[in-house]
Amino acid sequence: MTEQQFDAIIVGAGFAGIGAAIQLKRLGFDNFILVDREADLGGTWYVNHYPGLTVDVPTTTYSYFFEPNPNWNRLFSTGAEIKQYADDVADKYDIRRHMRFNTTVDSAQWDDEAKLWRVTLAGGEQLIARYLITATGFLSQPFTPEIPGIHSFEGKVVHTADWDDAYDPAGRKIGIIGTGATAVQLIPELAESAADLTVYQRTAIYVVPKVDIKFSARAKRVFARVPLTQRAIRVVTDSLYEFMVYVGVLRQRYFRRFTIAAADLAKMWRFATIRDKELRRKLTPDYDFGCKRPTFSNKYYRTFTKPNVHLQTSGIDHIEADGIVANDGTKAVIDTLVLATGFDIWEANFPAFEVIGRDGRNLGKWWRESRFQAYQGVSVPHFPNFLSLASPYAFLGLNFFNSMEYQMRHMDRLLGEVKRRGATTFEITEEANARYLDRMTELLGDSLFTQGNCASARSYYFNPSGEATLLRPMTTRTAVREASTYPVTDYHIS
Ligand SMILES: Cc1cc2nc3c(=O)[nH]c(=O)nc-3n(C[C@H](O)[C@H](O)[C@H](O)COP(=O)(O)OP(=O)(O)OC[C@H]3O[C@@H](n4cnc5c(N)ncnc54)[C@H](O)[C@@H]3O)c2cc1C
Repeated sequence: MTEQQFDAIIVGAGFAGIGAAIQLKRLGFDNFILVDREADLGGTWYVNHYPGLTVDVPTTTYSYFFEPNPNWNRLFSTGAEIKQYADDVADKYDIRRHMRFNTTVDSAQWDDEAKLWRVTLAGGEQLIARYLITATGFLSQPFTPEIPGIHSFEGKVVHTADWDDAYDPAGRKIGIIGTGATAVQLIPELAESAADLTVYQRTAIYVVPKVDIKFSARAKRVFARVPLTQRAIRVVTDSLYEFMVYVGVLRQRYFRRFTIAAADLAKMWRFATIRDKELRRKLTPDYDFGCKRPTFSNKYYRTFTKPNVHLQTSGIDHIEADGIVANDGTKAVIDTLVLATGFDIWEANFPAFEVIGRDGRNLGKWWRESRFQAYQGVSVPHFPNFLSLASPYAFLGLNFFNSMEYQMRHMDRLLGEVKRRGATTFEITEEANARYLDRMTELLGDSLFTQGNCASARSYYFNPSGEATLLRPMTTRTAVREASTYPVTDYHIS
């Protein structure tokens, strides 16, 4: 089989892969390929298209720092608009011609003699590259729980990450499993027309009111003509979200009152929308606000007061051909089973495929045997010429594009230095990595995840050992500054 050789292979054509590709172009690389197992670009925003999908960070903030979009229709834009934005950015930066779709990566192995990555695709084809950049996302491997009898269900089964656009919920009897951020958006939409909707909740979620605004045609013209106006709105939305992460998550030791106030806001919201005390109790989380990603909705709580909507909290015993039997013995007869069961973050995703580094080090095994870690959320010792963008300690919290910004700057500094020196390899040193891990562990000590009551949240922020290793516990400002100023001596460059 022929082998194609590239300067770089990027795996994943979501916003991270597109950002990495833009950065490579800025650095003067053109011989790179971006592969994705899906049939189109956009990652999350191509795969997810269930009814009600919107971003839950204002879109003035949910965009690349360098690419504001004057075309947003609302403050909280729909999934379709975000997908359009991904298309527009990829076209503007001429990234599409580097993309190859329907291409799944099975494994990657570092060849220490040739100083190259050998990337094996499903089907056996091999690609070769100097650099390997994985941009496989955190929320990209859909999770289906192994509930007894699930495979015997004879009606329609649909996962929110594989929505059937032709499906019409009108008059249907639907059972939906899960009450995470996706379900908060989907449940009110299904409840509009379903004959019957039974919601299976394992963990209640905090929901606070959503203050959304529509951007008029005039406002959009102003954004396009005077980009500063949109930047000004971004400063406001960025600061607000940054403030929430800072006091609500990072500095919990000192701002516990904020967490209590946020929980109170959700409580008042339940009180304002639901009269039934017992229903309110069932929808009340028993963990601290922020332990699990909280969400915004003006419809969610109210939906449970509709006569066709039922909340089931006793847990699922098993599924039969025509319905779901709960632990309290009640059976809901349904014709559609909706799985709003989210994504497998820790098992299927760290890493998304087998990666073997120098001296045969297996990334997945090593992370599990010696703690999840990655220097500045991108580099791992023993993995030369490898940048893993969906790494432990990578995500800055709430807004993905903050992480993207520092990761692009990190790439700029690192690959710029490698180019300047005419070098062929880089690898983070063990010492720099250990120093960084110690710092993350220390910073987490002040955070909500250590200080708060998160035990019952079942949050994907926590890895299977109970450590909150998803978030990089610092402000965007600090992360961006560090990405632009870290000592290049933290890397072996040769
Ligand atoms: C429903 C939903 C709503 C969200 N809302 C928000 C929000 O409001 N704010 C926010 O900040 N974040 C939100 N997120 C998180 C969102 O995932 C990120 O904001 C961002 O889109 C991630 O981009 P990415 O490129 O890192 O990953 P993804 O968009 O997940 O892209 C990863 C890509 O890698 C590909 N891939 C994975 N494994 C392989 C393989 N082995 N071979 C080939 N290709 C592979 C996948 O097919 C996918 O296209 C949301 C996520 C979901 C699921």
